[in-house]
Amino acid sequence: MLILADTDYDILIIGGGIYGCGIAQAAAASGYATRLIEKNRIASGTSSQSSKLIHGGLRYLEQANLKLVHEGLSEREHLLRLAPELVHREWFYIPVYENSKRPPWMIAAGLLLYWLLSGGSSRFKRVSRQQWDNVLPGLNKQGLNALLAYEDAATDDAALTQAVATSAQDHGCEISEVCALKKATYENAHWSVQLSNGEALTAKILVNASGAWVNRLCKRIKPEPQQQSVRLVQGSHLILNRRCPGFIYTESLDGRVMFFRPWQGKTLAGTTETPYSGDPSLIKPTADEIAHILDTYNHYFPASPCKKTDIIGTYCGLRVLPENGGGAFSASRETVLLCDDQDKPAYIAVYGGKLTTYRKESEKVLKLISKSIKAPHNMDTKQIPLPPADRHQ
Ligand SMILES: Cc1cc2nc3c(=O)[nH]c(=O)nc-3n(C[C@H](O)[C@H](O)[C@H](O)COP(=O)(O)OP(=O)(O)OC[C@H]3O[C@@H](n4cnc5c(N)ncnc54)[C@H](O)[C@@H]3O)c2cc1C
Repeated sequence: MLILADTDYDILIIGGGIYGCGIAQAAAASGYATRLIEKNRIASGTSSQSSKLIHGGLRYLEQANLKLVHEGLSEREHLLRLAPELVHREWFYIPVYENSKRPPWMIAAGLLLYWLLSGGSSRFKRVSRQQWDNVLPGLNKQGLNALLAYEDAATDDAALTQAVATSAQDHGCEISEVCALKKATYENAHWSVQLSNGEALTAKILVNASGAWVNRLCKRIKPEPQQQSVRLVQGSHLILNRRCPGFIYTESLDGRVMFFRPWQGKTLAGTTETPYSGDPSLIKPTADEIAHILDTYNHYFPASPCKKTDIIGTYCGLRVLPENGGGAFSASRETVLLCDDQDKPAYIAVYGGKLTTYRKESEKVLKLISKSIKAPHNMDTKQIPLPPADRHQ
């Protein structure tokens, strides 16, 4: 039987992205003594570099991953209720052209399935030809066969992550920014930890929520934990100096999915899927990615084409995809939780996942934690509204 030493914290979480903050919120709300450290700032990693959608993921229907889509859709509904200032329902438009890879009937069938999986909360419709110009002015109408629309949700990913962090603090979690894990050693049933700010502390459970750094972080942990092999895939976005007429879900010139969405009065366009094997801290959009997004935008908006000088911002993030031998596009977006001992874990690592499903996955992490340390009290993060934006500015 595991005998737990007298320690400073029940749980130490490494990483202040949406997963680290979500786990911190659930843990603190359950009454665990919780500490979170983030080497930069909250949401400085992938959790501010996403497409900023809260969705089931229409495209995962093509992988027949109905469970992932259903889970995302039901989490979307929780977030719409828990964070109405940060997560809003929007109509998304899908233009279908004569030469589109997916014909209108196939997309309509997908939207019907999406609606069913959402329990009727993702309405969809066909926009009549007479409405096309009103709904999406400037969109290329040449060869346009149909304009379909469905409901989904969007957010500001960094603000959402910050709201979850603030909620964690409200429940008693201590958060340290600009504070990295230097070394963690497990002996005598507790972790002895050294931080980059010179602090030394002890904790019963270590949670590795360091996103794209997850396996790199293992090198600082003794004994070195078992690791899931992953592929890192870079996704880039451009902010274009153009007003965006709406949320548009379409095919890029190579047939993959691309979004255009309004963002701070301009157009956010993305994303790409470029394999990456270097240091996650050094990613930046490649010249090919920039050209690809610009070409796709100019194809859909030929009346107001963008040049490089119209790019007012770029960013990119890394997807953490568990190895399954397929391409990045077909790889699963499901979260993998790895721990040292299924029955009494002292170490839990989070691999991959979506912004949308952070709350559900955090719940699963808490279930694992409760096998080692009984939760001081019951909690349900579905009942904890997130603080409004002005609380954390
Ligand atoms: C291009 C792209 C688009 C996406 N679009 C969507 C979308 O529209 N909707 C959706 O639901 N999902 C989307 N996702 C997925 C989603 O963004 C990620 O699943 C999520 O943000 C990952 O959060 P995380 O907490 O695991 O990682 P991160 O946000 O990267 O957080 C990990 C943190 O750990 C910190 N860290 C690393 N090492 C240490 C250390 N030694 N000590 C302390 N801290 C450390 C890092 O600084 C970082 O802040 C997208 C992903 C990408 C790449």
